[in-house]
Amino acid sequence: MSERRPLILVTNDDGITAGGIAALVEVAREFGDVLVVAPDSPQSAQGHAITISVPVFVRESEALGDDVEAYECSGTPVDCVKLAKSVLLNGRTPDLCLSGINHGSNAAINILYSGTLSAAMEASLEGIPSIGFSFLNYRADADFSVCLPYVRRLVEFVLTNGMTEGSLFNVNIPDLPAEQIKGLRVCRQAEARWVEEYTRAEDPRGRPYYWLTGRFVNEDTRTDTDAHALDNGYVSLVPSLHDLTNLRALDSLQTIEASLQPQGTPATTSAPSKKQQLEQF
Ligand code: MN
Repeated sequence: MSERRPLILVTNDDGITAGGIAALVEVAREFGDVLVVAPDSPQSAQGHAITISVPVFVRESEALGDDVEAYECSGTPVDCVKLAKSVLLNGRTPDLCLSGINHGSNAAINILYSGTLSAAMEASLEGIPSIGFSFLNYRADADFSVCLPYVRRLVEFVLTNGMTEGSLFNVNIPDLPAEQIKGLRVCRQAEARWVEEYTRAEDPRGRPYYWLTGRFVNEDTRTDTDAHALDNGYVSLVPSLHDLTNLRALDSLQTIEASLQPQGTPATTSAPSKKQQLEQF
């Protein structure tokens, strides 16, 4: 760590009054100066949404105590990170962004729907090492104390070691008593998904509406996934990327690239494969 106290940006998607963000702020303050920019209302499942057709309002907030620099924002979690960077940080660059602690799992495919993880991803786009934390307990009055040792250790680790460029950590913590958590596993994202269930009903004027619920289905039998780690009592850490390029598909697509070359262009068969070319970066 440098001489200067680290600057830590904290956000979430459950809103600035949620219990999980207070837990993150408690740990962040042990390590550095803290700026909180969080939604003024619950914004779960907003994914990477941004607000472009209505204004976004920002107010100073004392929701986390009068000695914490905090702002509440009428927009989405990603709006919060964008406003922090462009306006509220006043030109300062955070050393770390923490998002959460979310009320509920963001393992597996949930990373795509989650406002918590999208906020962390937005910070990673800006080159800020970033961690999204989620606790597998959906109750509004959840006790986050079991999460704190893991948050503390990971904040210390990233402030000391940095993070691979373009990466963020998706960390999920099982809802177990502290003594039953077996440790932390670095994992891949499980190939699990939601199976939607829509309940149909009618409003008082007779108009049909649909209400989305669903079941989380994990048919991934690999033992190195986040879902497997959580099912077996471990905290899961997935080093994730905002770059969605499928490197595994690149070489199988070289024929389409070749077939569309202008006539007379030299064949590229002896060149490194597309995957090799891109993996250099
Ligand atoms: Mn949430």
